[in-house]
Amino acid sequence: MKANKVGTDLMKAALVAVVALVSTGCGKVLKQKEFEGLSCGASDQVKSFMNPMDATIVQTVTIDPNFSALEIAKIQSAIDTWNVEGVRSTGHEIFRAQVLSVSAQSVPSNAQDCGFPGASGAFSIVKVTSSSTWTNLGFTASNPGVTIRCASGSEYAEKQVVLLNTTNMASMPNIFESVILHELGHAIGLDHSCDMTNSKIPGFAGCSAAGTDPSYIEAVMYPYVSATNTKEDLRRNDEERATCALNYRP
Ligand SMILES: [Zn+2]
Repeated sequence: MKANKVGTDLMKAALVAVVALVSTGCGKVLKQKEFEGLSCGASDQVKSFMNPMDATIVQTVTIDPNFSALEIAKIQSAIDTWNVEGVRSTGHEIFRAQVLSVSAQSVPSNAQDCGFPGASGAFSIVKVTSSSTWTNLGFTASNPGVTIRCASGSEYAEKQVVLLNTTNMASMPNIFESVILHELGHAIGLDHSCDMTNSKIPGFAGCSAAGTDPSYIEAVMYPYVSATNTKEDLRRNDEERATCALNYRP
């Protein structure tokens, strides 16, 4: 088992873009051929997936009680949004939320650390406010959120955790629900709607490519979000790819 993907949301000046995810070098695990036969969208989206979450079961999502009541309400709203998509895509809800204390060990010591508690059928959403913890993970004050996922081969994600740094969102608190909605997209196995590194991966559109499909830019899973363009509902690209990811069986 290894950490195969890390997502962060990078905060910049208030008026423009907020970068939403930086990946580690572990790369894609799912190959295009593994999605053949599924309706996975355009040819430049077939590599826009990570190891899927096991959506055959209802995942238990533990929300850190250190979040404020308002933050918990927004997390639950984002979970509800994904559950609607779960019903649409699979016929059942995919998340069951509970607010329950999480251990300090729920925060990995670094972005490759898979020693944190977890299992394939459950994950936590943890509030992080310590800048040193965040720095040790390799993120900056510009990153409001991260999803750390551990998996092997093309199997289901075996363990994952979503970390939200509310301190880093203090200057634009209205992005909070957009960020958690986005991170939950990573939790089900969606990579970004386009590749922010512009590495020209066949099957994965680069975000800077001229003519990048507007639906990729409008998506919740677009790797940039701003305080003036929050996204608290799923868009067509998110829904199409979610249907694919949630129905994928390793
Ligand atoms: Zn992201």
